[in-house]
Amino acid sequence: MADPNCIFCRIAQGDIPAEKLFDDGTVFAIRDINPKAPTHVLVIPYEHVEALAEADGALVGAAAHCLEVAPRIARELGVAGAGYRLVANQGPDSGQEVPHFHLHILAGRRLGPMG
Ligand code: 5GP
Ligand code: ZN
Repeated sequence: MADPNCIFCRIAQGDIPAEKLFDDGTVFAIRDINPKAPTHVLVIPYEHVEALAEADGALVGAAAHCLEVAPRIARELGVAGAGYRLVANQGPDSGQEVPHFHLHILAGRRLGPMG
């Protein structure tokens, strides 16, 4: 169910315009508004999946599909050869800002250690 207060639901529904770099009807990809790397793309399920821990089977499938398409998006962005990092923040200690599951693709420079 779309959450009218959720920024990614509003982008998913077209209420807020965004250029979709990828869209297969289950998930879509947009550039991060505040990029932390030269290439910073978000892969977002259309369905409002707040947290993996609270998602049922179908919603976990939509979230997992982000992982399935990320390598294809990375290839299309031209970063697959040099490498990239996939990040999924979950909950306050991770710094998660938007409570709608999404995968970050970070690339374009040597990324520092995690943590
Ligand atoms: P989180 O911290 O929840 O894992 O990541 C949320 C990301 O969404 C942040 O990197 C933030 O810059 C990005 N973001 C927040 N609002 C918008 C928006 O309206 N459009 C886009 N393209 N990115 C957004
Ligand atoms: Zn949402």
